[in-house]
Amino acid sequence: MLIEQQIAARRERAHGSVVRILAKPDGDLYGDYAVRSASKKTYRVAMRGPGLFDNYCSCPDFAVNTLGTCKHIEALLLRLHRRRGTALDHDQFRRTRASLSLHYGETLTVRLRLPLSPSPALQALAREYFDDTGLLKSGRFRDFGKLMDEFRKADDQAVVYSDVLDYVDRENEIAEGLELERKLLTKYRRGRDPLAGVLKTALLPYQVRGAIFAAFRGRVVLADDMGLGKTVQALAAAELLRSRRGIQRVRSWHRRRSSTNGRKKSRSSPTWTRRSSTV
Ligand SMILES: [Zn+2]
Repeated sequence: MLIEQQIAARRERAHGSVVRILAKPDGDLYGDYAVRSASKKTYRVAMRGPGLFDNYCSCPDFAVNTLGTCKHIEALLLRLHRRRGTALDHDQFRRTRASLSLHYGETLTVRLRLPLSPSPALQALAREYFDDTGLLKSGRFRDFGKLMDEFRKADDQAVVYSDVLDYVDRENEIAEGLELERKLLTKYRRGRDPLAGVLKTALLPYQVRGAIFAAFRGRVVLADDMGLGKTVQALAAAELLRSRRGIQRVRSWHRRRSSTNGRKKSRSSPTWTRRSSTV
């Protein structure tokens, strides 16, 4: 489906998707809302403007649809338009503090939003790390720790939403895995056994590479043909995860399904924008 069609579908489904507004900003139209959906779920919706990617919703659809909107955001925009008409398009969220949030576009990235009158330190930080649209420049992810330090110093009232911190944790975990994979494969190319002591049996070269790949790439599928030893690769990968990454226990898929009411829980689902107490 075209992006325009996907957005149109959410606008159509917006009608009746919010049955109650549980919390809304004082006085202003834009601000933080809590809504009760038609499916009896409570979502937090941060309304900041009339455009795509201006706003945030804690619903599962928003986290994965990469459209920058969802039916709850569209439902609130409809209500706000009814109250303010086209004036809403020129109304602005009065941002008083800088914030770092996740940009849920085709690729996830970090977005900086500045207050209406940013300090020179915040402006310098924005130029250094972010592009003109406020998105983290490619290649600057590795400096995220330094960026956070400077962000705290530049604005001690700044808000860092928890989905940013979750995202950074995940990205760091992936980078750490790739680094370990690179080291073990280099060792292997130099004629040493990177899996020495991992299993009691010796693995074939493709199995060694398969086990290392499976251990350090996050979610993977071992799709070797039948009889090529996927089980032994999986065992080696599990042992590598235990010994190199400190993984102790993995909840079984069945238990996970039952504990999440029949729905597979996505690791990428964001936590709502809990304000970090450290910034
Ligand atoms: Zn939503």
